[in-house]
Amino acid sequence: MYIREFDARVETADGTRIVLDQTAFNPRGGGLVSDIGTLAGARVSEVVKEGEEIFHVLESPAGLEPGAVVHCVLDWERRFRIMRMHTSAHILSAVVNREAGALITGNQISPDQSRVDFNLDDFDKERISSYIEKVNEAVSRGLEVRTYFMKREEALANPGFVKLANAMPPSVDMLRIVQIGDVDTQADGGVHVKNTLEIGRVVAVKTENKGKSNRRLYFTVE
Ligand SMILES: [Zn+2]
Repeated sequence: MYIREFDARVETADGTRIVLDQTAFNPRGGGLVSDIGTLAGARVSEVVKEGEEIFHVLESPAGLEPGAVVHCVLDWERRFRIMRMHTSAHILSAVVNREAGALITGNQISPDQSRVDFNLDDFDKERISSYIEKVNEAVSRGLEVRTYFMKREEALANPGFVKLANAMPPSVDMLRIVQIGDVDTQADGGVHVKNTLEIGRVVAVKTENKGKSNRRLYFTVE
């Protein structure tokens, strides 16, 4: 997750859509926007996963042929903000779940501003500041973020993991687990920081009511 540039070999090149033999670009998905950057000097405007293939979408065709070795550079400033936002969103969800029993109904992680939707009736200003305060308490403890793989059956045998294992499509038999200290553990495919101190400070931006008991909280990191 900390690879900022790398070399790779072009497998297929269909106009502006390039498949490489390996990549450090994180494709769009799981509520995260995709990475951007450059591939052989050409702008990569989006990265998308279709089936098992990851397509690097170039702004304009770069005349690449299969077999070519290309140097790729991620827009690291943007990517590092996505990592900080994403780890923050997990902590925020864990805090709101613990404090209010609310479940997450959706999220969108972007470099400038992110949002998390909760299934919650009551969501006033004081409550939000107390949640954000608890998030920042956890962040400032310098929690290690661990990622590891676990067999689906193994996860299902652990009562704490049942919820997340069941949430994954049955076709997935190895789950990637992301554990943020003692605050949050879940199956997750996205990019995270190694230690919560890298987040800095989480700040609430605004809230919106999205339907009867759906509350949307926008936040950022400083
Ligand atoms: Zn996540």
